[in-house]
Amino acid sequence: MSMIVAIDGPAASGKSSVASKLSGKLSCVCVNSGALYRALTWHILQSGIDPANPAAIESAMNGLQADLAVGPKGQPALRIDNQLPDFVSHESEVNAAVSKVATVPAVRSLITSLLRGFASERDVVMEGRDIGTAVFPDTPHKFYLDASPEIRRQRRAAQGLEDSIENRDHLDSTRAIAPLSIASDARVIDTSALTLDGVVDEILRLLTTSSADRK
Ligand code: C5P
Repeated sequence: MSMIVAIDGPAASGKSSVASKLSGKLSCVCVNSGALYRALTWHILQSGIDPANPAAIESAMNGLQADLAVGPKGQPALRIDNQLPDFVSHESEVNAAVSKVATVPAVRSLITSLLRGFASERDVVMEGRDIGTAVFPDTPHKFYLDASPEIRRQRRAAQGLEDSIENRDHLDSTRAIAPLSIASDARVIDTSALTLDGVVDEILRLLTTSSADRK
């Protein structure tokens, strides 16, 4: 069985950088599940569909040809109709729409099943909002990263990105399906005062301690 390290948390809590570095240390694949929601959101926007119209999104999902392509570093990317939606240079539009698109049940079930299929064949560090609660509730390796709202706002601003993180966090934690929440067995790490290496070392320490506990 593959090893799944689940890292959840709100926007700008440090998940992506931590997951990327940690996966290098553990020699496994880093999966940024938010990138899949972003790619699908860009596809919806480009199709002229209103991201605030769940019924229209639900019907666009019918018959959608989607799978995962494996990128050069082994990281999965969402491919739709054999093409990779190029959402990276459309950050602001995607930021404003992604949490609405992510409420739609057909969107969540598609991405959840792609994530499960991907991790069935390899060890992963997977980061997102519902990895420990809904995608892999049985993994023993669950972490929830948090940071103060002020620190998170500063981190996003330092990246020069237009992103209403409060708005996204509100939508992500109040949606009906798989909302952002702390799994009862997750280790919570407040990253506000920690460096990237500090967070990664803490996770590595907790992973080692918990596997020693299970022996
Ligand atoms: O992680 P990132 O900020 O790129 O995620 C973008 C958005 O995708 C989140 O705000 C959330 O709406 C959605 N998402 C989700 N479930 C995940 C990962 C991301 O709903 N596992």
